[in-house]
Amino acid sequence: MSVFNNVHLRDHKAVVYGFDPDAGLRAIIALHNTSRGPALGGCRMWAYENEEQALADVLRLSRSMTYKSAMAGLRFGGGKAVIIGDPRRDKTEALLRAMGRFIDSLGGRYITAEDAGMGVEDLKIMAKETNHVAGIADRQDIDGKWRSGDPSPATAYGVLIGIQASVRERLGRSDLEDTRIAIQGLGHVGWCLAHYLQRAGARLWVTDIRPEACERAAAELDATVVEPNAIYAQPVDVFTPCALGAVLNDQSIPQLQARVVAGSANNQLAEERHGEMLRRREILYAPDYVINAGGVIDIAHGFDGYDPRQARLHIERIAETLAEIYRRARRSANPTNRVADLIAEERFQLRRPVAAA
Ligand code: NAD
Repeated sequence: MSVFNNVHLRDHKAVVYGFDPDAGLRAIIALHNTSRGPALGGCRMWAYENEEQALADVLRLSRSMTYKSAMAGLRFGGGKAVIIGDPRRDKTEALLRAMGRFIDSLGGRYITAEDAGMGVEDLKIMAKETNHVAGIADRQDIDGKWRSGDPSPATAYGVLIGIQASVRERLGRSDLEDTRIAIQGLGHVGWCLAHYLQRAGARLWVTDIRPEACERAAAELDATVVEPNAIYAQPVDVFTPCALGAVLNDQSIPQLQARVVAGSANNQLAEERHGEMLRRREILYAPDYVINAGGVIDIAHGFDGYDPRQARLHIERIAETLAEIYRRARRSANPTNRVADLIAEERFQLRRPVAAA
């Protein structure tokens, strides 16, 4: 396997392999860009079929963390870690501690957090070996409830703010009263968001591959439940992907009746050109890494003595960032994903380390 020929390597700073046969650890940490600060990004544990797949994933994910942090105005760069293994079968205390030591060996250039297959309790075990772990302290959601670690309520709040900004831009509405919204995925983010949207007066259409989640949404939120494949074609104003990546593609985009796409899922566009396809259909797309930054913003505030009010005000700035993207996209007739990339690149490339006096 050639790492240097990997097309995803592009502008990465470093890729480091961690190996501890006694603990069963096989892991990769990718540092994409550190010009704004140390690389912050989650640690994913996944049963990758091979090392190539794990490498491709960590490179793609670390790159998008750079863009996300830069757009959110955080003093962090982008990085990510992956552990090769089935989290249900292979996760042990020894493995997590070995991962903690691996992270520690980078001396703070990479700071880890939650991701798929990795929860707060796992991070707390890693934290026995390294200080470079974020997102394990308690935090407060917009209802004033304190929770341990989980960034999903903050992500959901950011998506709510982003939907409001997008509806204002495309539909000229100042609130979400009677706005029709189709949510794909009622997991950690989607479920919390569905409650926020219902409270804001929206009418909900929902889907999930877990029937029990749909039944609960019908009972508690008066949501209309549809089959997973039918969600794209619903007669709604907003389509809100909160499940998988690559859901905006050649098959789904022609089906959309919504005039806005705004949701939490990472990597929603199957390919970059699908941003242009949405623009041509006059569907406003809220770039995923801008609208779903609430969780990382909340985590970043944990470094400066967590003040929930400051964290919330920062998350609310997602509205201004989207408005700026929409303004520039309108003026330049460019797709919003391209405009967002350009703004982010200005931000992380312009910031150069200050030379020592
Ligand atoms: P989750 O695993 O808790 O929820 C995903 C939900 O989608 C599950 O209920 C699952 O059953 C459902 N689902 C899976 N396949 C589906 C399909 N084909 N159709 C309909 N539903 C389907 O994940 P989450 O933490 O809620 O994250 C949701 C998305 O948001 C992911 O793409 C994640 O990467 C992204 N995201 C999450 C956060 C966060 O703070 N949790 C932050 C940024 C981005």
